[in-house]
Amino acid sequence: MTFPLNPGATIGILGGGQLGRMLSVAASRLGYRSHIYEPGAAPAGDVAHAVTNAPYEDEAAIRAFAASVDVVTYEFENVPAAALDLIESIVPIRPNRRALAVSQDRLDEKDFLTGLGLTVAPYAPVDSAADLSAAMQGQGRAILKTRRLGYDGKGQVRIAAGDDPAAAWAQVGAPSVLEGFVDFTAEISVIVARGQDGAVAAYDPGLNLHRDGILRTTTVPCGLPARLIPDAVLIASRIVTALDYVGVMGVELFVTPRELVVNEIAPRVHNSGHWTQAGCAVDQFEQHIRAVAGLPLGDGRRYADVTMENLIGDDMDRVPALLGQPDTQLHLYGKAEVKPGRKMGHVNRIMR
Ligand code: AMP
Repeated sequence: MTFPLNPGATIGILGGGQLGRMLSVAASRLGYRSHIYEPGAAPAGDVAHAVTNAPYEDEAAIRAFAASVDVVTYEFENVPAAALDLIESIVPIRPNRRALAVSQDRLDEKDFLTGLGLTVAPYAPVDSAADLSAAMQGQGRAILKTRRLGYDGKGQVRIAAGDDPAAAWAQVGAPSVLEGFVDFTAEISVIVARGQDGAVAAYDPGLNLHRDGILRTTTVPCGLPARLIPDAVLIASRIVTALDYVGVMGVELFVTPRELVVNEIAPRVHNSGHWTQAGCAVDQFEQHIRAVAGLPLGDGRRYADVTMENLIGDDMDRVPALLGQPDTQLHLYGKAEVKPGRKMGHVNRIMR
């Protein structure tokens, strides 16, 4: 494979949700085709050149998919390793396997981040109720999180001194990490990109508000003291450079009065980066496609103040009203069924 990819080349995308959908649109704007691989419902398939609807265990389907594309990227990090091994024997995967491996496992991720000298919440591996009991010694409040397959607050149990460790362990029942509770004043994220040439570009950090463990809004500027902004960007830059990363990454940070604490990294475009669609000449989706196609990174400077709000479940009822509002950019994902907690779309409000 030679990079940069020529116009008409095909970008394979593992995962057919809204992130895959918006990546496909960005790819087509740059003259590329996209091929979505998705075992379930695939809103991305509506806007892609091709779709493979098959399980990740289907070797023949994976092989045919890999053979039909020029590079493979992904919109979620829990793709089974065997599928990735097969794909990588046929076509390059960007971002690379190491980034995926590190972010698939909370313990590996924390060890990696600590190894870079970055601050994370105090943590300890927990593989049993006895481990949990030992790790809780001297802890006030903490959160038990499964090492794998946790997202949007799932696979997590809060636990306080005096609580029964056996009950908390029974709720997760899988290899986990106990994290000390961080008394943060704010949650921010940095959407950072690294190109094939090693150039790094970060978007302005956004302030994130969650409800029920799900991101509700991201606002830029984040309103934090100006001195924190370069620190946040430098943390994100160090992470992508250490991983020899190519693509866009979301880096979530807790802000405390003393320091920035890395919560987690996502080796993909990120929900908290959707504001870039209304705030920058080159948004996170185009930036990711540029990177994986081997093109130079684009201009991600922010030219507007923006609040992104997720439309979750019944928020869809607000769509008619939103369509009439000024300075409002609506994105709907084309999901057939509204369900509580399901991300159906988002709005970017430009604040002048
Ligand atoms: P996560 O899935 O790890 O991003 O956690 C979901 C949300 O739970 C975060 O966005 C925080 O609001 C909260 N949270 C997670 N870990 C901690 C922690 N160690 N201390 C305090 N709050 C946390």
